[in-house]
Amino acid sequence: VSHQFINGELREGTSTEWVPLRDPSTGREFDQVHLADTGDVDCAVRAAKLAGEGWSRTTPAERSGVLSSLSRILAERSEQFAQAESLQAGKPIRLAREFDVPGTIDNVAFFSGAARNLEGKATGEYSADHTSSIRREPVGVIGSIAPWNYPLQMAAWKILPAVAAGNTIVLKPSELTPITALMFAQAAAEAGFPPGVINVVSGKGSLVGNYLVGHPDVDMVSFTGSTEVGTRVVRAAAPSAKRLHMELGGKAPFVVFDDANLEAAAHGAVAAALINTGQDCTAATRAYVQRPLFDQFVGAVADLMGQVRLGPTSDPSTDLGPLVSPQQRRSVAQKVEAARGEGAKVVRGGDVPADPQLANGCYYLPTLITDVAQSADIVQNEVFGPVLVVLPFDSDDDGIRLANDTRYGLAASAWTTNVYRALRATREIRAGVVWINDHIPIISEMPHGGFKQSGYGKDMSQYSLDDYTVVKHIMFDRTEHVRKAWHRTIFALS
Ligand code: NAD
Repeated sequence: VSHQFINGELREGTSTEWVPLRDPSTGREFDQVHLADTGDVDCAVRAAKLAGEGWSRTTPAERSGVLSSLSRILAERSEQFAQAESLQAGKPIRLAREFDVPGTIDNVAFFSGAARNLEGKATGEYSADHTSSIRREPVGVIGSIAPWNYPLQMAAWKILPAVAAGNTIVLKPSELTPITALMFAQAAAEAGFPPGVINVVSGKGSLVGNYLVGHPDVDMVSFTGSTEVGTRVVRAAAPSAKRLHMELGGKAPFVVFDDANLEAAAHGAVAAALINTGQDCTAATRAYVQRPLFDQFVGAVADLMGQVRLGPTSDPSTDLGPLVSPQQRRSVAQKVEAARGEGAKVVRGGDVPADPQLANGCYYLPTLITDVAQSADIVQNEVFGPVLVVLPFDSDDDGIRLANDTRYGLAASAWTTNVYRALRATREIRAGVVWINDHIPIISEMPHGGFKQSGYGKDMSQYSLDDYTVVKHIMFDRTEHVRKAWHRTIFALS
């Protein structure tokens, strides 16, 4: 099977490199990707540039119609998408069926409507001598880079607002998980997207990713991935001053005040820490619990973690799947070991499961850690695994301060039944989303994106359309005068 989708056609990559794709649940190789080279990026960018001439002139209704056909095609193929996503990313099939795929279909449906809602200021006479109006125009060719944790949803979040607004795109999915992005691009072509509007190149980040974000014919870069790689992308895009849209790492706090519903908070923490085996940029990673509830909270979370079923991803009764790769599992295990070395208490987990049925997969036990310093690496930086750290706090001021005490600001939650505490948390925690008495849900109408080093720019929602468009001011002289009134400021003819 070919893994490049360029100018409406599936093609082989032209590099000399192949990488195997393995099922993270079993270690079994299921495909080989012939990787793209920089020449493939040139072809894709050329196709996108050419296609933009026509696509940018389509009406919003035309773009909306094609997106609406795409959502129908995806709905018909939802089971194929769920199976492919589960296989390549190691997701439990229930998660792929109930979260990844329906979420993507709803996104397509949302952008089908949003394409017809490009907003701007009223045309009018803001100066007595002129009429001003606003045009909202596509940026041009978008170069996009996506991560492996939600391969289908990330492809959709990048592609949809871009093409709904009249741009064309070259997307580079993670080399570990290109399959569903390619299926999405093919479905889009069947729905009526002309060749070249949506292109997918599968290749290494350090080579084709880096080349794509610096390409002279790419007008804007949108990136989702780690803060470390993101800063490299910013540098590569800087010489040509490209527009940037950056969705970076997260280290979401989960703040439990002493009036919270403890049972709800414990259930919420387990679900929000373990979603996608913790490989979620908004996952709950640092629970701060007000001292009177601390011991009970730790006990309740440990109990619930013990009830989570690890199993093969193809089994609908499996709750927790593997990590995406052996490297990812090594990285998670090393971070837990480092915390242990600093004296942290591993209340539960902290190891690979003993079940021989899971021995060939990249599984890691749900892990609960306490007794670690706020400054420790495991509190400050991403683990991207099924690991929750729980720390106590005393005053409300401390709870908020600790929540804000990392370089990230993507997501956060506060748990309280007191409306004033809830209001304070939503105002003072610096993050792109603050949930009250819940943690994780997203919806197509609302923006997703970070504060601080979690990046800038919004995915989903009408706000993302703003990011993928440029406003142009049009100003008409109304006077027909040769000599305008303001000319006297510059040259005062007698
Ligand atoms: P990563 O940063 O390692 O890689 C992301 C992408 O960048 C991949 O496609 C990779 O091939 C590419 N890449 C690598 N080097 C590059 C370079 N020099 N130039 C251009 N592209 C390059 O991230 P990952 O491990 O794939 O995904 C996990 C990370 O993604 C986590 O940090 C997570 O928080 C983040 N993430 C953020 C969001 C968000 O919305 N903020 C959503 C999902 C994931």
